[in-house]
Amino acid sequence: MKKIVVIGSGFSSLSVACYLANAGYDVAIYEKNPTVGGRARQLKKEGFTFDIGPSWYWMPDIFEKFFNDFNKKTSDFYQLDKLDPAYKIFFSDDVITIGDSMSKICNEFERIESGSGAHLRDFIDKAQQNYDIAINKIVLRPGLSPLELVTKETVMRVDQFFKSISQEVRKRFDNPKLISTLEFPVLFLGAKPSKTPSFYSFMNFADFGLGTWHPKGGMYEIIKAMAKLAGELGVQINVDSPVEKIEVVNGKTTGIECNGKSIAADIVISGADYHHSETLLDQKYRQYSEKYWDKKTYAPSSLLFYVGFDKKLKNIQHHNLFFDTDFEKHAEEIYDEPQWPTEPLFYANFPSITDESMAPPGFETGFFLIPIAPDLEDTEALRNQYFDIIMNRFEKRTGQEVRNNIIFKESFCVNDFVEQYNSYKGNAYGMANTLTQTAFLRPGLKSKKVNDLYFTGQLTVPGPGVPPSLISGKLVSDLIIKKYA
Ligand SMILES: Cc1cc2nc3c(=O)[nH]c(=O)nc-3n(C[C@H](O)[C@H](O)[C@H](O)COP(=O)(O)OP(=O)(O)OC[C@H]3O[C@@H](n4cnc5c(N)ncnc54)[C@H](O)[C@@H]3O)c2cc1C
Repeated sequence: MKKIVVIGSGFSSLSVACYLANAGYDVAIYEKNPTVGGRARQLKKEGFTFDIGPSWYWMPDIFEKFFNDFNKKTSDFYQLDKLDPAYKIFFSDDVITIGDSMSKICNEFERIESGSGAHLRDFIDKAQQNYDIAINKIVLRPGLSPLELVTKETVMRVDQFFKSISQEVRKRFDNPKLISTLEFPVLFLGAKPSKTPSFYSFMNFADFGLGTWHPKGGMYEIIKAMAKLAGELGVQINVDSPVEKIEVVNGKTTGIECNGKSIAADIVISGADYHHSETLLDQKYRQYSEKYWDKKTYAPSSLLFYVGFDKKLKNIQHHNLFFDTDFEKHAEEIYDEPQWPTEPLFYANFPSITDESMAPPGFETGFFLIPIAPDLEDTEALRNQYFDIIMNRFEKRTGQEVRNNIIFKESFCVNDFVEQYNSYKGNAYGMANTLTQTAFLRPGLKSKKVNDLYFTGQLTVPGPGVPPSLISGKLVSDLIIKKYA
């Protein structure tokens, strides 16, 4: 039986480990941190539970499909609830509430701009068609050749790869608040809406068509489920196991070095950040130069706060976006002229609003996220300065005082991403999905220089986010299973 080593234990690593163990391989995971989950780890403190990274459960079909591939269902592992409202967006002069159905959302659009409900239905119908093509066809291809993108359906929509989502949205809607609402979902792909092809409107179908869900107990329940499944399939999981080297003999990987010991393997797969994974190889076996990595567009990093409040908060929902400042300016400060944002947009998540298991009774669990450019200077003083900025805005927009109700606050930023995940430039969500960084144009799943060495995760194919990471693991397993069939 071939022995496979998987580096890291994020979604992509757990996914590939499950698929390959299920196919009969002997699989072992080596994770540097003391707990599994990578960017999706969990913080528990004084009765509060925080998801450290992802909090939006979108594309429930992809999670279901993952567990179905092992004759399981998500409900075998966790309870999934559809959120209503899905989320709230605070603007400087209004609040938009996104409900759990198209009819509720269309009514809300009509309230803002007369006639926009019909335009929205048309836009989402088109987005649904793109979702079907993207998820059932394109995303399941391994990014080995440009021809993978050429299908009857994509040829008919070729214009959508050369127009941006911003152009498409502005063609149909005039109100700036509706425009920001419809540009929000593609931020998950990591690039500016003006740089994201309009074909990616499938993210709008994921948002309005499929809805926003919450696994009771938090996103970490998915990691727990995958780790349990991996264990049942015979995967050996080693934590506190930083990999120091990927060993290569005569152009073929022979295993890894971890905690100073050599561990033999027939195949090595790294789900750690791609750039870091390549630094585990001798220079001659690396595929991409430092210049290559430096020139790529990365999804943002983030300044995050995990806050325990000793009261229930008012006028908020489970997910809240604070778009009460200039969206364009903040995007420029992330992508065009990287710097700390002048007036940041931010996101606030209070899972204890809908899930009482997340906080002690009568208390609220608060997670705040400011997207920022990767590689920025990160100091305690800057973190505190931004905490004050967003707390002022939060109190003003939601009409309540909360600062005296903070029991504790923890923060996480660029330096932590580098230190805890070996993240390149402290990126949070990997490499952005732009036209020139899509499919075969992304760093490859399979090493071109080392035989039996593979890569998975948010810096490779298909891209950033939890659902793409699950798919990335499957794509690598398919390549290996096909090679040794
Ligand atoms: C703050 C934040 C919010 C997010 N929000 C969402 C969201 O709401 N919805 C969504 O879908 N996605 C979201 N994402 C993106 C999503 O979390 C990621 O795309 C996904 O978790 C990436 O998984 P991965 O397997 O590629 O990498 P990771 O989770 O980074 O896993 C890589 C693992 O490799 C380990 N590792 C690194 N170096 C070594 C080494 N030398 N030896 C051993 N192990 C090593 C790391 O410790 C880590 O555990 C968010 C991400 C962040 C950071």
